Parts: sequence; C-alpha cells; structure tokens
Amino acid sequence: MNIQSLSVCVPAKRCINDCKFCCSKMHTSDYEDRFTDVCCYASYTEDMRKRLEYARENGCNTCMLTGNNEPQQNKEFLRVFSEVNRSLRTPFLNIEMQTTGAFIDADFLDFFKSSVGVTTIAVSIACLDDDADNRSMIQTKDDQLELARFCAEVKKRNINLRLCLNMNDGILVRHDYTPESVIKLCGDLGADQITFRALWSPDSDTEQGEWIARNVSAETLDFIDELKADVKANGKYLDTLEYGADRYDYHGFSVVVDEDSMSQEENKSAVKYLILRPNGHLYSKWDSKASLIF
Ligand code: SF4
Repeated sequence: MNIQSLSVCVPAKRCINDCKFCCSKMHTSDYEDRFTDVCCYASYTEDMRKRLEYARENGCNTCMLTGNNEPQQNKEFLRVFSEVNRSLRTPFLNIEMQTTGAFIDADFLDFFKSSVGVTTIAVSIACLDDDADNRSMIQTKDDQLELARFCAEVKKRNINLRLCLNMNDGILVRHDYTPESVIKLCGDLGADQITFRALWSPDSDTEQGEWIARNVSAETLDFIDELKADVKANGKYLDTLEYGADRYDYHGFSVVVDEDSMSQEENKSAVKYLILRPNGHLYSKWDSKASLIF
C-alpha cells in the first residue's frame, strides 16, 4: 500500500467558518466523536496510537491535521495528538495543518510549533488579493483575518508556508487573472509552496455544489489548464510528493496542481490518503464509510 499522507480529523461540533465551497458540507459525516465522549476517551487515544503506528509502519511520513472544521477549534485534541505521536516508535516529524487562519493569533502559532510540532501551515485561500472578499467567501466571523499579517506571523516562526488556492472566478479581483499575477502575489506573501486546488463538485444539488457550479467558470478551468501547461513547460520537475501529485520548481516556488483533492481518482495500486476519523477508525476515502481499513 502506498500511503502518501495521513489526515487526522480534529473533532469539533461545527466549523467556525462556512466556506461557500466547503466539501465537508457536501456529504454527510456522521462519525461518532469518541474523543469528546468522556466514556470513550481512554480507548480513543489507544485507537489513535494504533492507527498512527500503522500509517508510519506502512511508510507514511506526512500527517495533516484537518477535519470538517478548523483544527484550532480543539486545542485539547491537538495536545493529545502530540502526546500520542511522541509516544510512537518513530513519530511523525512532518506535521501539516490546514487552516484559513481564522482566529489564530501569535500564541496559537507558538503552540502549534512548540507543542504540536507543526512544520507546515497550509493556508486555504478563496481570494488572494482582497481580504474582505476572502473573508466573505470563507464566511468567517473573524473580521480581523488578513492574509499578509497571518502569513508574516507563520514565516516569523520559520514554519513552512503553503498557500492553497481554491480556484474560483474570484481568486483575483484587483489584479490581472494571469499565472504571473498569482505567482507574484504568492511571493509577496512569503509562500514556500503553492497548491492550486481544483474545487470539487459532486453530482448533487447541495448549496456548495451549486456555488461551485456558478463560480468556477470555463475561464477558471482554462486558467488551471494554462497554468498546468506552463508549470510543466517552464517549471523544473522536482519529485512526486507523498502528499499528492508531481511537484515542480516554478519561478522559485514549489508548485503542485492538485486535481484530486477528494481522492476520487481511481488508482487501484495506490491509497492516496488515510483518514483518521473522530471515531478512532481509519478510512481511505473522504466520502465513503465503506472505505474503512480498520
Ligand atoms: S474551514 Fe474547512 S471545514 Fe470549515 S467551512 Fe471552510 S472548508 Fe469547510
């Protein structure tokens, strides 16, 4: 089995944001939260330890803290995760956290780095050049969220900064909609890595699916194709990431075009992701309980 990364779902009742394109909201997620349930807490941590160990023993080096909410919503879980990880024979050293940055202040970033061992912060972005538009698409209550300030705080702590661009028609509103503009803005924010995420839309009439249908036009899809072609033609192939697809050096940035953010692509010889759900079980697909591994 080829395990590229383990996603650990941090439990919380509901997300503090309400992103218009949120894929978590497009399918039901009725996994029991055994971490928060005081009766199950001890057995949950043991379940977690076994699954982390399993992932490590199957060659998985990267752990992503994510979920159907923002990881920063559950500090106690992050503390326990760190304790369990450190108890493994060979702990995860590459720990990534996916977030929009909402309500994360300097103390929180110090906690992520020093106590949890976070090495990469992957910032999920809906609009790159207008904070008000970004906040509006994320539908966050954090009216202080500013990308430049947040990215600067991440870089100040020498944490790897990955910008994950959720490609929609409003990703740039003040600049030309060209690969050069995107790259320049990412550089200004101090990005080490850039991921262009093709937004995933299921065959359903969910609010989020409808938003994607309305806001990811043929022009944006063409833009992604243009970008991919340019990355392949003018970038330098680096390697194939554990995290996902091929990675290129493109204008000095590590660039990945992730066209399979929900791990939908059929590839029978590979398991792209493992997902540890709040019930303490391991799955291989985000949208299928039948993908249970154990
Ligand atoms: S932050 Fe993530 S989980 Fe929360 S609403 Fe946005 S996409 Fe969904």
